[in-house]
Formats: sequence, structure tokens, C-alpha cells
Amino acid sequence: MKKLLSLIASLIFFFSCGSQEKTIIPATKITEAETNVKPKLIVGIVVDQMRYDYLTRFENKFGEGGFKRMMQEGFNCKNNHFNYVPTYTGPGHASVYTGTTPKYHGVISNNWYDKEIKETVYCAQDDSVASVGTESDAGKMSPQRMLTTSFADENRLFTQMRGKSIGIAIKDRGAILPAGHTANAAYWFHGKDEGVWITSTFYREDLPQWVKDFNASDAAEVYFKDWDTYLPIETYVESGDDLNNFERGFDGKETATFPYNLAELKSKNNDFDILKATAYGNSLTVDFAMAAIKGESLGQDNDTDVLAVSFSSTDYVGHNFGVNSKEGQDTYIRLDRDLDRLFKYLDENVGEGKYTVFLTADHGAVDVPAYLQSVKIPAGYLDYNDRKNRFTNFLETTYGTKNVVENVSNNQIFFNKEKLKELGLNIHDVEQALVDEQISYPNIAKVYTATAMNSTNFTTGIEALLQNGYNQKRSGDVIVVDDIAHIAYSKTGSTHGSGLNYDTHVPLLFFGAGIKKGETYNKTVIPDIAPTISALLGISFPNGATGQPLGFVLD
Ligand code: ZN
Ligand code: ZN
Ligand code: ZN
Repeated sequence: MKKLLSLIASLIFFFSCGSQEKTIIPATKITEAETNVKPKLIVGIVVDQMRYDYLTRFENKFGEGGFKRMMQEGFNCKNNHFNYVPTYTGPGHASVYTGTTPKYHGVISNNWYDKEIKETVYCAQDDSVASVGTESDAGKMSPQRMLTTSFADENRLFTQMRGKSIGIAIKDRGAILPAGHTANAAYWFHGKDEGVWITSTFYREDLPQWVKDFNASDAAEVYFKDWDTYLPIETYVESGDDLNNFERGFDGKETATFPYNLAELKSKNNDFDILKATAYGNSLTVDFAMAAIKGESLGQDNDTDVLAVSFSSTDYVGHNFGVNSKEGQDTYIRLDRDLDRLFKYLDENVGEGKYTVFLTADHGAVDVPAYLQSVKIPAGYLDYNDRKNRFTNFLETTYGTKNVVENVSNNQIFFNKEKLKELGLNIHDVEQALVDEQISYPNIAKVYTATAMNSTNFTTGIEALLQNGYNQKRSGDVIVVDDIAHIAYSKTGSTHGSGLNYDTHVPLLFFGAGIKKGETYNKTVIPDIAPTISALLGISFPNGATGQPLGFVLD
């Protein structure tokens, strides 16, 4: 009887799947592995500074097993955006994994002015813990400043801590914030003259043997070789000339042109740190991720594990060479091959169809403004010191002192509340006076008060993005928005931080266990990712999540 019931059930299942989904998945493609089994491993991939258009611009140079495999076998959300300002690395990684924005997770920037202690703090800094794997301070890090849980935390709670969480990135914050508060460990790369993967006592007292083995091998040294283009450079017609005025390059080399002899350049560029700013930093990250899969036995039992991998080198390359560089193009072509290598390793060690991958970015980047100017597109550079001097003069003439302001950072002005009280000034009046004053300054597009952020519910436009990035406890009193494609940066290389499409529009790809094949132009936002993974796993949403699960990507 039991057998008969299950036969009927599977027939119903077969017919209902067949009728609803034959337009999406050919019937022959539905294998046992692709039906609703819980993934053994979630691999979250964040590519630092990856714009959406890199997927399409470099597509015909990609192989079959990397980005294209994700696009062809999985689900491609083509209109995926950050929904807050500022678009920086710390907030980006926190938002992907917590399913919310700085308003709730509290990571308002990479560094910010802490109003309570009146000091600038770093998002992953934790002076109460010690470094593990280095004598330096580079390991004094933890996710303590992130106020909410990540989906990796919820998976730990759900599995009674049996499901593991491991975070990996060249950058500490790219490993620490995704892995969350309950992580088994986060590992990041300490360059300089050490070239080792490290962690902090927040996670553990000693490096595990597999990390010690990895550090003792020549895994990092092997990349001190020539960095030349992966494919013949003349085929890279999707990027600008290798020799141009918009790149910084490396110390010790006259021009920012291929090939780069890294063995020769390393001594003039902080030794192992040079690897971070080349395509090889991503290769080293994959090498280490594969060692982690093996060393931690990820995806080997019935409790889902989480591996959070962030590729930081794309960001260093973007800052150095810009969005339109040959170096940038080569970095993505090589990352594509590194993804192929990682996916094949997962196929072999976890099993095809038994793991789920998502890939996104922590922000995009603007084209080098000097390049945009050269092709007549409005763009430019900002001098924040100049701006500060100007409103300091205004404060002195209006209030008799500049001390009503105690900090200016991340396009926000922080008032000295004690000084305001002492002078008998109403904070709302001073906020408004600074708005009225600054809106006439060149290259300031908009200025808002904290009062507006706290009292109005914005639903669209830059105002809504600012509000999602605004944390009442941590953010400033006046918020400034710069003109489009204007940055306070050197005239070489790209940067990011705004709420405009070049910074907000990033890839979102899902593939593997429980994921449909398809694509959409419907708008999705970064905080949707974590609830989607939670829904896939049937676990609680991260405790501050504001995004919605993307039901259409799930099988
Ligand atoms: Zn970043
Ligand atoms: Zn170049
Ligand atoms: Zn960056």
C-alpha cells in the first residue's frame, strides 16, 4: 500500500512537473539530482566591483564552464541593483548576506565616524580579539559591528551548528561579513612580506592544519611570474587601448601595459600585496577555496554548509586600471577560467546538482571620468577639501565657530551636539542652513537633512536609496549627493559609492540544486538574495531581512 501511494505520488509529481515546466527545462534534463533535494553546500560568490555589463561585454571571450555555465544552466537576473547608498565593499557584502541594507545591518561604510566614541572605526575592526596566523594586527577583526544575522548564521541556528560556515576573501571584510557571527572561520590574505591566509581569535585560537599546510606551500609564490593576457591581446576588442592616460599601473614600471613581470615588480609594490592587484589574486582565492572544501569536508553530509567566497582582486584592478582597461578585461577572462576550475572541483567533490551557487557583486564602478570627458560625456573630479573650507567659512560667519561640525566623512556632516547646545542652537535650523548653503556649491546635486531621513518615508529615487543607507544611530546630520560621474579620486582608475546605475547594476546569477533555468529583466535588489537562499533551504530569514525571496528562480 505504501509503495502504491508513493508510485501515485511520483506519477502526479512527474505529470505536474512535465506540464508546467517543459517550456523551461527539456524533460530529459530533469534528473534525480535536480529534483527538490536540499543542497549540500551553498557557495556564495561576490565579485568585488563587478558591473553587470562585464557579463555581456566579455561574454564572447568566456569559456563554457564559468560565467556562461551559470547563465546557461541557471537563472540570470539581468536587472539586479543595489538599493542604497553608499555602494562600498563593507555594506555590499553585509547586504548580500543579511538581506537588508545599512539602515538595519548598520555597516554604513567601510570606515565611518563613530558618534559615541568620537573616532573613525573600520567595519571589520575588533580590538578585543587577536590575530591568528600573523604577528601583525591584520587579524584583529570580527563581524561585531554588523547588527543583524546573515543567512549563514540562520543556517547554523537551523542545523544546531552542524552546518558549517566558512568565509574566504583576499580582503578581510569580504570574508568576515558574509560568513556572519556564528562562522566556523573566516580567512583572508595577509600580503606584505608574509603572503599567508590568516584569521582571528574571534573564530579560533590556531589555524587548522589544512591552512597551515596551504601557507607552508608555495601556493602564493607561484604567482610571482609574468602577468600577460590570457588570450592574444589583439583579440581584446571589448576594452580600450592598453596604453592610455587613465591607468595608474605599478611602481617600477614606466607604462601600465602588458606584460607585467611580477617577480621583478614585487619589491617595489609591497611584496605579496602586488598579487592582490592582479588577476592572480583571484586564482589564489580559488586555490584556497578548494583547499577549504577539502580541509573542512564541505558538502559531505546532510546538514547544508555555506562557503562564502569573495573575489577582491577585481576591485584592486578596477581602482588601478579602470572599467575600460585591457587589464580589467583580462582579469575577468581569467576569473571566468578560475570559476570553471572551482565548479569542476565542486562537481567532483560535492557532486553536480548537489550544490547551489549564486554570484553577484558588492557594487559596480564608474568609468574613469577623464575618459568620459575625452568622449564628451559630462563627468569630472571633486575636491572635498575645497568644499569643506567653503562651508567652514560659512559656519564661522554664521555661528561664530566652525566647531558645530565635528566630522565630515562618506558625504555626511556630523554635528557636535554639545556645541550646538552650548550655543543654544536648534539642530534642525543648523541642518537646514547647511542644506541651503551647500546646494549652491558646484557639483553638489542634492543635500538632505537627517530630519528628512528620519521623518519621511521615501519610496523612489535617490532619496529612497539614501534612506536605505541611513542608520539613525550611526549616520550623520546632513547628507550630500555629488553630481553624476563626478568622483573625489585620482585621474587614473575607477571608483564607486554612488546610487547611480554604474554603481548599482550588478550581476545576479544562480545555478545548481533547486534552481530553475531562466532569466528575467524584472527588477531584483541585493537584499532579495539572502531570503531566496533561506527559502531554498527552508530556514528562517536573516533577522533583519527586508528583501523578498525570488520565488521564480527556485525549482
Ligand atoms: Zn568592493
Ligand atoms: Zn594598460
Ligand atoms: Zn573598491
